[in-house]
Amino acid sequence: MAVVTRFAPSPTGRLHRGHALSALIGWSLARAAGGQFRLRVEDIDSGRCRPEYTAGILEDLNWLGLDWDGPELLQASRRAAHDEALARLQALGVVYRCACTRADIAAAASAPHGRDGPIYPGTCRGRDDVMGGAWRLDVAAAHALTGRLTWQDAMTGPQPADALPGGDIVIARRDIGPAYHLAVVVDDDFQGVTDVVRGADLAAATPVQRLLQALLGLPAQRYHHHPLLLGPDGKRLAKRDQAETLASLRVAGVAPSALLAELRQHATPWPIGAPHVAGQ
Ligand code: GLU
Repeated sequence: MAVVTRFAPSPTGRLHRGHALSALIGWSLARAAGGQFRLRVEDIDSGRCRPEYTAGILEDLNWLGLDWDGPELLQASRRAAHDEALARLQALGVVYRCACTRADIAAAASAPHGRDGPIYPGTCRGRDDVMGGAWRLDVAAAHALTGRLTWQDAMTGPQPADALPGGDIVIARRDIGPAYHLAVVVDDDFQGVTDVVRGADLAAATPVQRLLQALLGLPAQRYHHHPLLLGPDGKRLAKRDQAETLASLRVAGVAPSALLAELRQHATPWPIGAPHVAGQ
């Protein structure tokens, strides 16, 4: 099967070196295999995404010489497919309405905290009087349907895909409808992705995404989770670190070839190709 990789940033800020590393590894894997490198702009969170950041993503990739195959996919245009996937999960009986606010969850959760805050304690699970609100995945019910699952780490092989520790995550939000985990698996399939390349922080999202694939009957991908890059302060890069954005590096006169050379050092063990940078 031909290798198809993707770069799937959210236009909520300018890209930083960590994004460039994801894109470089994805591009290189595709080019080395004679496959395809796809671009998806994850713009479903209309309150946080901005068209100027979408333009910035294209500008930054062009500056780095990382060309993608086919038109860029704007994820918001895929709403009908995301809704259809949500309807299938509803038909399977593995999602439920949840009207809890963040404050409700914080107050209820004397329980464990995950990476992104308190783990949802399941307050609305099993209730039939919740009308509006979000949709959550009943992870235990979902696992009962699928049985044990694994996800494929491209370097280390099969890993247990147990989504229980993350709790009943939100599948569709009250404000924007179908949300990140659902949109990502539906669109990775739509774009024919075989290999997902992304930062190690998203390894925690992989079990639940594998679970959604199994529920929806979608093929599984191989995953390449690369180490996160750190800023000068030793903390992981974030879009709010203006000095670390690719746009700022460009304005400061950093050559794309210099940045690519630095990124290459962080990209072992992946085989990194040489993008054709304009003017060099
Ligand atoms: N859109 C996500 C982000 O920018 C990445 C999604 C993914 O790679 O699965 O953090």
